[in-house]
Amino acid sequence: MANDLHHGWEAVIGLEVHCQLMTHSKIFSGAAIQYGAEPNTQACAVDLALPGVLPVLNEDAVKKAVTFGLSVDAKIAERCVFARKHYFYPDLPKGYQISQYELPIVYEGHLDIELENGTTKTIGITRAHLEEDAGKSMHENFSGATGIDLNRAGTPLIEIVSEPDIRSAAEAVAYLKKLHQLVVYLGVCDGNMQEGSFRCDANVSVRKVGAPKFGTRTETKNVNSFRYVEKAIEYEISRQIEVIESGGTIRQETRLFNPDTGETRAMRSKEDANDYRYFPDPDLLPVVCTQDYIDAIRGSLPELPEAKRARFEKDFGLSPYDAKTLTSSRELAAYYEAVVKDSGADAKLCANWVSTDLLAVLNKQGKDINESPISAAALAGLLQRIADKTISGKIAKEVFEAMAAGEGGADDIIKAKGLVQITDESAIIRAIDDVMVKSPEQVAGYRAGKDKLFGFFVGQVMKATQGKANPDAVNRLLKDKLAG
Ligand code: ADP
Ligand code: MG
Repeated sequence: MANDLHHGWEAVIGLEVHCQLMTHSKIFSGAAIQYGAEPNTQACAVDLALPGVLPVLNEDAVKKAVTFGLSVDAKIAERCVFARKHYFYPDLPKGYQISQYELPIVYEGHLDIELENGTTKTIGITRAHLEEDAGKSMHENFSGATGIDLNRAGTPLIEIVSEPDIRSAAEAVAYLKKLHQLVVYLGVCDGNMQEGSFRCDANVSVRKVGAPKFGTRTETKNVNSFRYVEKAIEYEISRQIEVIESGGTIRQETRLFNPDTGETRAMRSKEDANDYRYFPDPDLLPVVCTQDYIDAIRGSLPELPEAKRARFEKDFGLSPYDAKTLTSSRELAAYYEAVVKDSGADAKLCANWVSTDLLAVLNKQGKDINESPISAAALAGLLQRIADKTISGKIAKEVFEAMAAGEGGADDIIKAKGLVQITDESAIIRAIDDVMVKSPEQVAGYRAGKDKLFGFFVGQVMKATQGKANPDAVNRLLKDKLAG
């Protein structure tokens, strides 16, 4: 980590995360917010800022902001206010963005992150305010001109601002991943970082360890992957330390990260907040959240990742690691629970199959749990065949591979491939007799005390039965037979 490389220096980081809310329509208009639509097909008169239009607040955006606030133990403002933030940019036809300033809807929350050394650290969440997204400038496909697409204009966002509590790039990534998991769990955001639904501005400064005050920060804008955030922050920490150590000073400025070089570069020096000429938007009423309204939302919160994890450890006897893996998304957790329930098999066995075999297949096929080639019911069907001893655990792996390749359900594959386990003892004894006749030297050796040869016999019997003999029966019967 950069922190260790730069002995005597400490990084101070605060993140601002823009998170698109999964509403059906925009925050102040009825236009749709589907990603990827033809440019300017989802922008109505309000989004185009035609004269005489008025914004109407989308209640679902308020509900989702409150949902988020409650999940990070934040305070919900009884009364919050929309403000106009003025700046000029071609993708902002009104000349101002509707945001919140002094009175955000959510404030004073926190999120606990786990550090690499296993300890927990609390990161303060200063505020989360509602605002509208801007449009997009399109430079490609236009020579000597810029295209403006206003589809995104007016998309509801919450901007989640952290306290400057983060001290390294690794902590920043841990915080972001936790936040990302949370908003997706809550169903307030689709979490798609490539499409810009969850993007981050990283504020970074450095100071000498023990210094009483923070250093001057830079803000690196719109970094849209965990990997890039880590790189951008590490680069920025090193750069700032080098500037200061060689006698320079850090300017407060906005910077851009270039993923190709892994570097950040200055974009513009920071405007003072009052340059935005914030003032309450006279077109919008203050929003009042009553205690009843907040309580109703609290009552409808889903089980959150941490609670689910604790329950999986307790109810299913899973290790913390397995519980964490299986609760990484709501869908995966639901899949696992369905496998346990439908198969009636041991919960830990189910956990192994899901977290190891299934995740490997999904990874290999580049698929999401929702697109799994093996449904929870199908996997449960396979595990039942192990439990009822139709097949051994080893043969089950073969059946699983065939299921992943789309060859059908467990029973069809077991039948088609003739994989039913041999539990008929007389058949196993015949195979053992055969092997012993063919291997007189090994029999003599084993009987003279070479215990290690036992594995050889097991292997030969399994080979003779194409792996289908019940392993417990093979072991028991072999011991009998070899004893003479
Ligand atoms: P602005 O409104 O100009 O973006 P804020 O005071 O809201 O400024 O801070 C934005 C973010 O910067 C917050 O996440 C905060 O934690 C972080 N921050 C503030 N001061 C520093 C600093 N000296 N070093 C690093 N991050 C900082
Ligand atoms: Mg800011």
